Amino acid sequence: MIFTKEHEMVRKLAQTFAERELAPIADEVDKTGEFPLSVLHKMGECGFYGIKTPKEYGGAGADFRSYVIVMEEIARVCGVASVYVSTPNSLVGAPFVISGTEEQKEKYLRPLAAGKIIMAFALTEPGAGSDVSSMQTTAVEDGDDYIINGRKTFITGAPISDAFIVFAKTDASLGPKGITSFIVDAGLPGLSMGRPEDKMGIIGCPTSDVILENVRVPKSAILGRVNQGFVTAMKTLSIGRLGIGAQAIGMAQGAMDQAVAYAKTRKQFNKSISKFQGIQFMLAEMETRLNAARLLTYNTALRMDQGLPADKEASMAKYYASESAEWIASRALQIHGGYGYIKDYPIERIYRDVRVTSLYEGTSQIQQIVIANHLLK
Ligand SMILES: Cc1cc2nc3c(=O)[nH]c(=O)nc-3n(C[C@H](O)[C@H](O)[C@H](O)COP(=O)(O)OP(=O)(O)OC[C@H]3O[C@@H](n4cnc5c(N)ncnc54)[C@H](O)[C@@H]3O)c2cc1C
Repeated sequence: MIFTKEHEMVRKLAQTFAERELAPIADEVDKTGEFPLSVLHKMGECGFYGIKTPKEYGGAGADFRSYVIVMEEIARVCGVASVYVSTPNSLVGAPFVISGTEEQKEKYLRPLAAGKIIMAFALTEPGAGSDVSSMQTTAVEDGDDYIINGRKTFITGAPISDAFIVFAKTDASLGPKGITSFIVDAGLPGLSMGRPEDKMGIIGCPTSDVILENVRVPKSAILGRVNQGFVTAMKTLSIGRLGIGAQAIGMAQGAMDQAVAYAKTRKQFNKSISKFQGIQFMLAEMETRLNAARLLTYNTALRMDQGLPADKEASMAKYYASESAEWIASRALQIHGGYGYIKDYPIERIYRDVRVTSLYEGTSQIQQIVIANHLLK
């Protein structure tokens, strides 16, 4: 058995929370772009921001399977809420767990897990997306400090973040081996945000550029070791990809829920459309792909919990789950007919939300490269 009784309790908690707190606000958040602070606080009280954070830093100290379960159940009801859960557990939390000093963990990881601060992961640049190593942001040593210059783009949560993990070149001659990660506080002179992007989906968590102009940080702001930033980023992204796999299957389950319910109620040709084999076959294919994606994702979480190598598995889970989730959401919309194209129906939001899962934290093509590299090494 992949899951224990404790895992089932975690699922129940996340499910109940999602139904009670997120279902009533999901459409409104999508319309207004405003995610209620009160609900963000409640997610913190439930411990969703520190699922995998060790107990000594105020987290739940749970495993990767618990993380997947929470992501799945939250994303099933409200995609953007799962973005708020993902970041502190993976992109931002993981680098601290992997390579943070005691002082850094106390100052940032503890309040992050409690939901007292928000942080963002600033890797991508306008000219360096899939090809991270071509980044232009530099950090130049200056006495006891480093001075950072550059521009990061598409940074989730940037406009509302208290601090950032910024990746910068400390030795341009070393390519990916010359990148270092820094903790950069939002209030520092020289740091500013671009305008929030007008996104297609996951509306309610702002995304913007982060501009760094001669931002001075002390050497104690280095997260991990000098020139080890690329390794930290790649290790973090494996955990991140597991989370996006879980997010995708959650959204796909949400789409399935809508499709099944709609098929049972809609009548054409004097009968329920659920009686048509064309609809039944679509539902059967959707359910089969969803369960295949789910098993890939659960298997990755299990391997991570067992301390087994899981980079290839994380890429396979993200690749298959995100591509399948898009396909499932599209079929679910099809089952709604024209009503699926109207914003009154949640499937319209899910269809837009799910689209990002095959783009961020490495596109599908980048996952394919990772998988193939493992096969061919
Ligand atoms: C909503 C949103 C939130 C995001 N949040 C964050 C964040 O918090 N922090 C962060 O650092 N980044 C974030 N990103 C950035 C995201 O990770 C990048 O958009 C993604 O990695 C792709 O980079 P790109 O957009 O520059 O596309 P490009 O790298 O320019 O890719 C363009 C196309 O070329 C393909 N391609 C590229 N290289 C290859 C290759 N070698 N072989 C085959 N095909 C290839 C890609 O798959 C894609 O189809 C976010 C993006 C979005 C949309």
